[in-house]
Amino acid sequence: MPETKISLGLEGTAHTFGVGIIDEKGNILADERDVYIPKIGKGIVPNEAKEHHEKVAAKLLEKALRVSGLSLEEIDVVSYSAGPGLPPPLTFTANFATNLSEKYKKILIKVHHGIAHIEISKLTTQAKDCIILYLSGGHTSVIALVEKRYRIFGETSDISVGNCFDVVAREMKLPMPGGAEIEKLAKKGKYVELPYVVKGMDVSFSGIQTAAIELLKKGIPKEDIAYSLQETCFAMLTEVTERALAHTGKEEVLLVGGVAANKRLQEMMKIMCEERGAKLYVVPEKYSGDNGVMIAWAGLLAYKSGWKPTFKDRIKPKWRIDEVEITWA
Ligand code: AMP
Ligand code: MG
Repeated sequence: MPETKISLGLEGTAHTFGVGIIDEKGNILADERDVYIPKIGKGIVPNEAKEHHEKVAAKLLEKALRVSGLSLEEIDVVSYSAGPGLPPPLTFTANFATNLSEKYKKILIKVHHGIAHIEISKLTTQAKDCIILYLSGGHTSVIALVEKRYRIFGETSDISVGNCFDVVAREMKLPMPGGAEIEKLAKKGKYVELPYVVKGMDVSFSGIQTAAIELLKKGIPKEDIAYSLQETCFAMLTEVTERALAHTGKEEVLLVGGVAANKRLQEMMKIMCEERGAKLYVVPEKYSGDNGVMIAWAGLLAYKSGWKPTFKDRIKPKWRIDEVEITWA
């Protein structure tokens, strides 16, 4: 029987430090994470995220190994998120991974964080040839795999949809992450007008964010703003996704990233997909946020296909998704 390769993945691009272990068949052997939470009313402070990761990394690694019943000797590949992300936590994670690989003489693989989100979503949903909507705190992109690259068909021209929701939620004094709170409030709201901004395949959320905050200051009920924010932003995303399906001829849509958990977004996408005879896949909530398993899995795919990075640096904070050749597709 062929030997099964095992990958250990380290995630640390932003708020989460994660250690995941997975085998070649996609069996998840460990998934340990710890999230840095900024003080109320504040966004992520890069150095604080790094300090958080420094504190938890060794403990999480030890726990992941214990849960999997494996020793470091039994790991074949050490994978880590080399970008995109914030330089302080990225640097810590890269150094931690490099030290491990040198000490235990393991192959070291640099993983693109966005590609890891996509690959773990494909593994857990069985989506194959899909339009991917990557919606997180930092990203809003419409992506499709074409000729061995994840190509960006459309994206936000300013802030991400997750960030738009988070900032409005913060103004409403709601706890973080704001998106989930907006979803709860929206159930009791009615429509008030907000700007709808789609240009070709691109979307913009900063004007909507400003308008929503102005309405809040005028005394419009939070519920109505939350409802209208969802209806407007998700209608925009559904429109560009439908256009991407039409352009590419693909028949699957895959939602990935933290915002994918939103039930109203899923409902609107499902209606659009059904009308076109396409199928909707949504990453399971457990793997929608940042985690080490996704890094371990993408690292293993890269390793098995002989992928090599085109840069020497340990990290690449502005690594674009379409710079990576998908040698395993
Ligand atoms: P990520 O960056 O992938 O970890 O995702 C975090 C983002 O997802 C934050 O901006 C959250 O506000 C957002 N989010 C989480 N749950 C929901 C939800 N149910 N509806 C909308 N946004 C959400
Ligand atoms: Mg992420």
